[in-house]
Amino acid sequence: MKKVFFIFLLFSSCAGYRLTQEAQIILADFDSVKNAEKIELIAGTPYETSGFLFDSGKPGEAILILGGTHGNEPAGYEAALRLLQILQTSPPQKGKVILIPLANRMSIDNYKRRVPVPKGIDKEKGNLNRCYPGEEMGLPMQQMAWQIQELAREHHVTIFIDMHEARYLHLDTPKGSYRDQGLGQTLIYYPNEPSSWLTLNMLDQINETIDNPKYHFSAIEEPILHSAAWWAGKELGIAAFTFETARILELQQRINWHLKLAEIVFKESGIW
Ligand SMILES: [Zn+2]
Repeated sequence: MKKVFFIFLLFSSCAGYRLTQEAQIILADFDSVKNAEKIELIAGTPYETSGFLFDSGKPGEAILILGGTHGNEPAGYEAALRLLQILQTSPPQKGKVILIPLANRMSIDNYKRRVPVPKGIDKEKGNLNRCYPGEEMGLPMQQMAWQIQELAREHHVTIFIDMHEARYLHLDTPKGSYRDQGLGQTLIYYPNEPSSWLTLNMLDQINETIDNPKYHFSAIEEPILHSAAWWAGKELGIAAFTFETARILELQQRINWHLKLAEIVFKESGIW
């Protein structure tokens, strides 16, 4: 009995995270997504992943959304997969949306923050959110960052969103302690005018739906160096965000918050 329990523990710790059934169904339909053009990123490699372009054909904002930049932050990619389904029945009325739900697919399969890099190389080169603007012929995540930024430039993206999670609640985290882990329930925005305007709208609208004030979202300025939102805000001068929910809270609630924030941005920017 003891041995069986040990094997179970070993297996469960290796297996990591399993997509919810709803997400698995959406993923199984990747080849028949309606109202979208499919775009393969770093195609033909083990890191290959799909993006989806929903284009209304009318002028308007162009929003790029990433889920799964970090494989151990499931609410981000669970929400992005649900958004893929929602966009098929509620496509943009104006402008376009590019959605890459599983940006670092290998890290999701392994439920890790990064993918491994060759010995002797900085491990952060396997962290997609430290690789921007990327390198065309670099390591896999440098290539992924490069292709995402090329896609953003090609489509003249005006709003950039990267869906993440942190371990703890920001409002419960003592100042100056474990910065990365204490970012739960925050909107990290690049300090420019388009970001500020959307940040105020998101904070106002989402916090009025949250009863417990400890779970309220706070705005934090300046995404971390070489992250996607940092690059997009700095290089393109556009509204750029990292959304962070807190992993200590219930998964479905975290997914709903990511979806609600995306919905606010879509409505405020005239996409819906
Ligand atoms: Zn993250």
